[in-house]
Amino acid sequence: MNKFKQSLIAQKLEQELSIKEGIVRVDHSSCDGCESCVSVCPQDAIEIVLLSDKEVKQLPFKGRLKAMLKGKYKASINEGNCTSCGKCMKQCHEFAIHKVAISN
Ligand code: SF4
Ligand code: SF4
Repeated sequence: MNKFKQSLIAQKLEQELSIKEGIVRVDHSSCDGCESCVSVCPQDAIEIVLLSDKEVKQLPFKGRLKAMLKGKYKASINEGNCTSCGKCMKQCHEFAIHKVAISN
């Protein structure tokens, strides 16, 4: 990854981490199922799931390509246990975990 892209991602990550009231979700088009986020979660809220063929078909092109190259295992967050601490977001080398503000 080039430095410019790295710095854009770092900026975006910082913005998302600064969201106070947010929901943390995994973008299955970017996740490669590496599992490295699982062990950093203090709430044990992340599991690795196997997407069905139907779920893979519903992903955008990037996600279908990634599933073909890296497999159909993806991280999934149990929102009931997640405290939105952001530790998994910092851990993810694919920038696949995002925090979105809760809209009222
Ligand atoms: S969300 Fe990121 S760290 Fe977690 S399994 Fe996917 S690629 Fe790996
Ligand atoms: S935001 Fe924190 S609590 Fe939620 S899944 Fe990630 S590491 Fe776990």
